Amino acid sequence: MVARFTLEVFRFAVIRAMQLITILNRCHHFQGFVYHRARFSPDHQSIEISVRPRQGSTATCSRCHQPAPGYDQLPERRFEFIPFWGFLVFLLYSMRRVDCRRCGAVVVEEVPWGDGKHTLTKAYMLFLARWARRLSWKEAAQAFRTSWEKVFDAVEYVVHWGLEHRTLGQIDAIGVDEIQYAKGHKYLTLVYQIDLGITRLLWVGRERTVESFQGFFTAMGQDVISKICFVCSDMWEPYLKLIREKCSEALHILDRFHIVANMNKALDKVRAEETGRLKREGRDIVLRKSRWLLLRRSDNLGLEQHFRLRDLLRFNLKTVRAYLLKEAFQQLWDYNSPTWAAKFLDEWCRQTMRSRIEPFKKIARSLRQHRELILNYFRAHKLISSGVVEGLNNKAKVTMRKSYGFRTYRVLELALYHSLGKLPEPELTHDFF
Ligand SMILES: [Zn+2]
Repeated sequence: MVARFTLEVFRFAVIRAMQLITILNRCHHFQGFVYHRARFSPDHQSIEISVRPRQGSTATCSRCHQPAPGYDQLPERRFEFIPFWGFLVFLLYSMRRVDCRRCGAVVVEEVPWGDGKHTLTKAYMLFLARWARRLSWKEAAQAFRTSWEKVFDAVEYVVHWGLEHRTLGQIDAIGVDEIQYAKGHKYLTLVYQIDLGITRLLWVGRERTVESFQGFFTAMGQDVISKICFVCSDMWEPYLKLIREKCSEALHILDRFHIVANMNKALDKVRAEETGRLKREGRDIVLRKSRWLLLRRSDNLGLEQHFRLRDLLRFNLKTVRAYLLKEAFQQLWDYNSPTWAAKFLDEWCRQTMRSRIEPFKKIARSLRQHRELILNYFRAHKLISSGVVEGLNNKAKVTMRKSYGFRTYRVLELALYHSLGKLPEPELTHDFF
């Protein structure tokens, strides 16, 4: 009995000692409202702080954001605030309703710490959202003893605010890429700004169709689109077509990374076919464990691997010839002059067409078809590099992995804007994080 009494006194004392209201007044103060009382909830799991309108203050209409005469008061609502030493913290407030003449209706008042839609305070939403950028959403929910859904709400609020308040400004260069987010050809189209000074995710679209990519141009507006000077993309035909249409003035550059990736895929195919043939002839030892060796750039190999490669190159294999074609192609990127780059490209395609290696002939045909777009890389003085797009896309993939378990389009869209959009955030009176 004595112990219990002491505990009660202790709890009371804690609240007094920490002077929660003083702290709140310092970091989360709003004109027209006062913190009235702080106490533990009956189950002692959370701290409840009641908020009241300051005497004589006028409520603000949440529709027109103007002061309006009071009408009545709604039952008390709980707004969740940033948790504190393992206790959940709630602000308790009875919202007033106003009889707004401007709106011609009875409307619930506007409160500066929250809004009608969310049970979390704005400060807590920003706090959670910032943590959700560093941790996975699930981890953030666990760390603050809240639910995944509330983290989702928080990120959604912050991203919405950010998209509404961001400045697009002058955008010189954009890069378009896609990532697969689920099995069965589920792709997202991502558009990045890749200017020298600023790189950020501008837009996320569902699928990789003309219709979805069209959404980007609509979202940005003609004014921004017409000033774009460089566009970087892969050879995906729907993208190419729309870029030709919408950014007819811009220099369109084919993504160097994708060309190299396609060539690696072709080499892999040649190697797999040949391994099959050698196996049937009982000679497959030659190409065993060579895949990695052949797909790496030769200047990235160690000494021992170099010797292995040299051994391999002695054989007159299709795989070896394909490898040499791939390695030779790398030279293209060293040219500075578009004219000389063109000469090299044409010669490489001519030789490859005579190689009788079908997967490579296919590449040569495609390169011939996109010749001008490849040469645009040199015409742009090699300033616009798809390496930036690739870097951003890798970050996008990391973000995607973090939202593991909840991989729906909506979740990914929010997570991507949140981590790569460099969006502005709502301002608070205090930095809680
Ligand atoms: Zn109003």
